[in-house]
Amino acid sequence: MPQNISIAIHGGAGTILRSTMTPELQAQYEAGLQQALDAGYKILADGGSSLDAVEVAVASLEDFPLFNAGRGAVFNNVGGHEMDAAIMYGKGLEAGAVCGVNHVKNPVKLARAIMDHSEHVVLCGLGAEQFAKLQQLPFCDDAYFYTDQRYNQWQQALLEDKVQLDHSDKKFGTVGAVALDKEGNLAAATSTGGMTNKKFGRMGDSPVIGAGTYANNQTCAISCTGHGELFIRCVVAYDVSCLMEYKGLSLKEACDIVVYDKLVKIGGEGGLIALDKNGNIEMPFNSEGMYRACRNSQGRNEVLIYR
Ligand code: ASP
Repeated sequence: MPQNISIAIHGGAGTILRSTMTPELQAQYEAGLQQALDAGYKILADGGSSLDAVEVAVASLEDFPLFNAGRGAVFNNVGGHEMDAAIMYGKGLEAGAVCGVNHVKNPVKLARAIMDHSEHVVLCGLGAEQFAKLQQLPFCDDAYFYTDQRYNQWQQALLEDKVQLDHSDKKFGTVGAVALDKEGNLAAATSTGGMTNKKFGRMGDSPVIGAGTYANNQTCAISCTGHGELFIRCVVAYDVSCLMEYKGLSLKEACDIVVYDKLVKIGGEGGLIALDKNGNIEMPFNSEGMYRACRNSQGRNEVLIYR
């Protein structure tokens, strides 16, 4: 029997309310999600690997200025961008991650290059940028990463002297993808600009394997979005996998415990997208909304924002 193929993506979670969204803006977000979903699904439908599918879907979200990753990355405390990303392949638990890079057009591609072409899992800052140059990955100048929306958010955060999760009022803005290919291999990727006005080389959960990103063919593929510090402390992505592996829970049961119980108990707002080896999709979040979309070979095809 041919293996099911599935993909799910997210563009961040948080206080996303119908009342503060215009129809035009909503249409733009939906178009950005649809484009990324279609790009990733096409790879799977053409027989490609889940690893390529998540990389392409996340790169598409990074290129879309409304999401907090790549082009739309938020400003840090000194008016620059420090981006984090990770990718993981469930087949052999291969992983690559990058943190605190500036000017790299697609951090997810750098994470993939680290996985494929270095003997390391995580590279940071200037060293990671040096490796990106050796790999001939595209760089962009400050103008590419500038948007009025992000600049205004940073100015506001500076005024209030606070570190802000993407957009005003608790809206998270990481992007991510999880996929299952026809060979039965799972993969996950996540990319983020982190938090507006962040200081001192702060790194979130996205590039931390097992916290914001995880994939294991025996259990699931996960990409998270939310308050990174709390997601790291809860080891969210690996916890979902462990509940499945050691307790025999279903994907849904494991996700529900982590997102609606464990995270809530320590104030960890956000959500995740998850896929298991049978192609089941879960997209739970404990915030008001989460930009998300999914598609599988059994006819599920959704782009959603609100609860
Ligand atoms: N998890 C990300 C971080 O803390 C933020 C987000 O999801 O928006 O860097």
